[in-house]
This record gives sequence, structure tokens and C-alpha cells, in this order.
Amino acid sequence: MIPVVALVGRPNVGKSTLFNRLTGTRDALVADFPGLTRDRKYGQANLAGHDFIVVDTGGIDGTEEGIETKMAEQSLMAIEEADVVLFMVDARAGLTAADEAIASHLRTRQKTTLLVANKTDGIDADAAVGEFYKLGHGDIHQIAAAQNRGVTSLIHYALAPF
Ligand code: GDP
Ligand code: MG
Repeated sequence: MIPVVALVGRPNVGKSTLFNRLTGTRDALVADFPGLTRDRKYGQANLAGHDFIVVDTGGIDGTEEGIETKMAEQSLMAIEEADVVLFMVDARAGLTAADEAIASHLRTRQKTTLLVANKTDGIDADAAVGEFYKLGHGDIHQIAAAQNRGVTSLIHYALAPF
């Protein structure tokens, strides 16, 4: 079975930029994959020796109350159908309440989740990502999706079990 990788995070962290990196010209709806519905954006990807499906989501708005309403329904669905969740945060913007809400929700799910700090280009990334350890998701994978930096090694790590 082809693994499904979901890109989850608050708006503007770079999910769609990473989606486009991963899918390249292979970006396509994959409605013929059983079990997947069409209201998230799906693409096919091949990277680091792995074929996989990547799911982009609209992002989770952190301004409402309660995690279930904060998270867009499609993002919740994407988490449920994923084999691996890439939980994206913005290394430049720093930790936000929305990041914390998403982290809490993900801790309740039985999903392999990797915490990914994007936009690490042009900053002291090691210093910037330190605060994200508070999210309790372990190691922080540093990338710069817009520069294609760290993306291949992230996928290599994420999909090694598949
Ligand atoms: P989304 O809302 O999570 O899908 O985020 P987008 O992919 O639309 O990106 C939001 C903004 O962040 C855009 O202006 C991107 O160009 C910018 N961005 C995305 N990745 C990077 C990155 O690696 N470095 C920098 N500096 N900006 C980035
Ligand atoms: Mg987007």
C-alpha cells in the first residue's frame, strides 16, 4: 500500500510550498485511490526512493475555541487517513497558540507525527527552533521548503518504515 503523508499546521507555515516541492509536476488529484476523499488536495510524489501520496490541508485556524472547532474539518480528516503526519511550524514566526492546539490534538491520535520547522533559511535556525520542543513532539526537523533544503532527508526519515 502506498503511504499517505499529511501536511498539517496553522495557516502560512508553508504547507502548500512543501506540497508543491514534493509533488513537482506530478501534482494530481488521486481520486482513484480507495479510501481517500476529494476535499483535501492530494498529489503523487516520488522522493528519496519512496512513492507516496501527499495531502495538503487548508490549515487550522487558531482563533476559535476548542480544538475540534479550531481545526478545519479537512485537516482532521487528513490526520485520520494519514500514515505519517508532518506537523509544520514556522521557525521565523515562533511558537503560537494555534501550534499548541494542534500539538495537543495530535498527541491524542495514534499517528506517526514528525515536527517540521519550516523557513529556517537566513536565520539562526538552531536557536529559533528551541522553543518548539515545548510542543512535546520530540525531534525537530528543520527545512526550508522554499529553498528545497532539508526536504529529501525529511522524507527519507519519515518514510523509512514504509
Ligand atoms: P500554507 O498556508 O501553510 O500553505 O503556507 P504557504 O505555502 O502558502 O506559504 C506561506 C508563505 O511562506 C509564502 O509567502 C511562502 O512563500 C513562504 N514560505 C514558504 N516556505 C518558506 C521557506 O522555506 N522560507 C521562507 N523564507 N518563506 C517560505
Ligand atoms: Mg496552503
